[in-house]
Amino acid sequence: MKKVLTIGEVLVEIVATTRGEGFLQAQPLVGPFPSGAPAIFIDQVGKLGTPCAIVSRVGDDDFGRVNIERLSADGVDVSGIEIAPGETTGSAFVRYREDGSRAFLYNIRHSACGKIRPTPASEALVEGCGHLHVMGSALSVPDLGGMVMDAARRIKARGGTISFDPNLRPELLDAPGMRRALEAVLAMTDLFLPSGEELFLFDAAGDEAGAVEALLGRGIRSIVVKRGAAGASLFQNGLRVDAPPLAVEELDPTGAGDAFGGAFLAFWLADADPAQALRLANAAGARAVTRLGPMEGTSNRAELDALLQDPKG
Ligand code: ATP
Ligand code: MG
Repeated sequence: MKKVLTIGEVLVEIVATTRGEGFLQAQPLVGPFPSGAPAIFIDQVGKLGTPCAIVSRVGDDDFGRVNIERLSADGVDVSGIEIAPGETTGSAFVRYREDGSRAFLYNIRHSACGKIRPTPASEALVEGCGHLHVMGSALSVPDLGGMVMDAARRIKARGGTISFDPNLRPELLDAPGMRRALEAVLAMTDLFLPSGEELFLFDAAGDEAGAVEALLGRGIRSIVVKRGAAGASLFQNGLRVDAPPLAVEELDPTGAGDAFGGAFLAFWLADADPAQALRLANAAGARAVTRLGPMEGTSNRAELDALLQDPKG
């Protein structure tokens, strides 16, 4: 089995437990929870027993340790997480507006993970891994974008594969060079995991079928569209499979896309039946929303099977 690598932010997340138009209204806050889209993703891959690693950077502090302990317990190789003395681990605050949409407040750029850089350990992982998962959010951080692109080119040149989740928080889209970086990654992508409108990022005109066809025409092997509480769809080889949503109670939707992506990738790399991979990933996304805290709802195989048998639990 190919070893999966991802590169990007490891954070703690503090979550508002009530809706409100500001953090002072959306009290109380809970956390810190282990977080960072690449971290949640790779935690889900590890929980399914697929060999995997993350390259990141944290401070020599409790927030960094919370993440390293969780990821290693779940089977992730953490040798590529650099511990930077005197720096602070990144953080994010999330609150839900009255309409249910989310507002994020990030401390990434000026934290340890804003300075992720190549190290001997990260170089060894780029050489040793056969699959790279790219998160759009990582491309918005200065220098990190270049490092991700370099890893993608090297892994691809060795016959490896690339998955890509644009993961575009509006707060991150305007970063310099972001559009160009997204295009360059797409050109190397084997498995594309957009959520909703991200399907139209590269081709604003047209309907869903047209956008899918255009993307498959660019050489992407599989496209999985995440639709939040409406489930997900898989397109590959003239095949379309839909996964209706599992009827779970949504407590905290943050991280669902990352858990979904990690699970789908694990089964995709294992050459599972596409419909089965989609069903299991749909369960991973559904289970993720039932837990408060973005990484608290990642699942092992038994938990996915149990949810599919009885969504009401
Ligand atoms: P994020 O970026 O916050 O991690 P996302 O936008 O990338 O999220 P979503 O589409 O929100 O990803 O969720 C991923 C998948 O999780 C969905 O396609 C679906 O399979 C599952 N899912 C999400 N929300 C629900 C829900 N309320 N009920 C059932 N399944 C859900
Ligand atoms: Mg997402």
